[in-house]
Amino acid sequence: MDKIITLKHGKEDSLLRFHPWVFSGAIHRLPDGLEEGDTIEVHASDGTFLGRGHYEVGSIAVRILSSDPAEAIDGHFYARRLASAFALRVKLGLIRSDNSTYRLVHGEGDFLPGCVVDVYGDTAVLQAHSPGMHYARHIIASALAALPEAGIKNVYYKSETTLPFKARLDPVNDYILGAYHTNIATENGLRFNIDWLKGQKTGFFVDQRDNRALVERYSRGARVLNMFCYTGGFSVYAMRAGAAEVHSVDSSAKAVTLTDANIELNFPGDTRHRSFATDAFKYLAEMPEGAYDLIILDPPAFAKHRSALKNALIGYRRINEAAFRKIAPGGILFTFSCSQAVTREQFRLAVFTAAARSGRRVRILHQLTQPSDHPVNIYHPEGEYLKGLVLYIE
Ligand code: SAH
Repeated sequence: MDKIITLKHGKEDSLLRFHPWVFSGAIHRLPDGLEEGDTIEVHASDGTFLGRGHYEVGSIAVRILSSDPAEAIDGHFYARRLASAFALRVKLGLIRSDNSTYRLVHGEGDFLPGCVVDVYGDTAVLQAHSPGMHYARHIIASALAALPEAGIKNVYYKSETTLPFKARLDPVNDYILGAYHTNIATENGLRFNIDWLKGQKTGFFVDQRDNRALVERYSRGARVLNMFCYTGGFSVYAMRAGAAEVHSVDSSAKAVTLTDANIELNFPGDTRHRSFATDAFKYLAEMPEGAYDLIILDPPAFAKHRSALKNALIGYRRINEAAFRKIAPGGILFTFSCSQAVTREQFRLAVFTAAARSGRRVRILHQLTQPSDHPVNIYHPEGEYLKGLVLYIE
């Protein structure tokens, strides 16, 4: 029998609206012997069953997995959720011979709060963001490997940096199933070395796939600057489009090496590409005016928490202003923010301010977001994080 957490009177409303979190302030009583990561039942103050989920210590105390009183959280539960997530990716047209890179599970957006799974060919990289998902990792890995047609043979568990630090779970990044096999995956027919062992996040920023394809549409004949390039995703697409030249910049020398390797993998010996390991602000300040027709700014999350918001907005304003001042007339700017703490309106205002200060005439061509394999549960708007604008600068 799962233990029962009872809510304070009147605190059941958000769960009745299908929001998947219970905040600690809403809890009336915790049962004896409760351990972090336990699967528990949540009841309203009158004893009505509201849902079943994972308990953790912190402001988010429970992440709801199911609101069906008859549904147990066991191997069958994970198998059903994963099968439905995979069926959606099939419907989205992501499972193709020329595309083996996609996000299979996007936490709350796939009704598996606290769980992220990115797939690279026959390897799935599993990330737990909650103690409950950490304890479920072996069950999830088996369910992943058993998914018919997904072809997953290896499951790499990578949660050293994503689990709450205070939970003292000491997760070790390692294979739960299979072992190192091949780390080359395809995205829209382009090939990428994916380093899930040492790379950032799960090894690749799967969430920019659609936006990379849009960069490809605008890159023909253009001089392209890909700022914050990491694995060089945008650069590789720009090269395929027939860009006149592509420059990739990242402050990390490792990222630049990864970018060079991915360019070499797709366009061996192509001299249109050059990369620079240097700071973005420095590069933008020193580059000559009019040197680029298309600039991509995809920085790391400047605000990881709300407390950093003000400085983050200044950061966005500064890099965008530098790009507006320097981009060639008729240029196209792709600018992004992946900070969940920054709203779409705040980001737009930072970019607007940057444009106004540059004195250029600027029009919005596209408003971008995360791709469909990063779905947002409509009852959990917090799941939306990626924002982008494509601007035309005269
Ligand atoms: N655009 C990439 C993802 C960017 S991740 C993609 O499509 O995959 C952010 C990158 O910014 C990281 O690789 C990090 O090394 C780099 N970075 C962080 N601060 C930087 C700075 N001040 N100047 C240049 N690069 C920076």
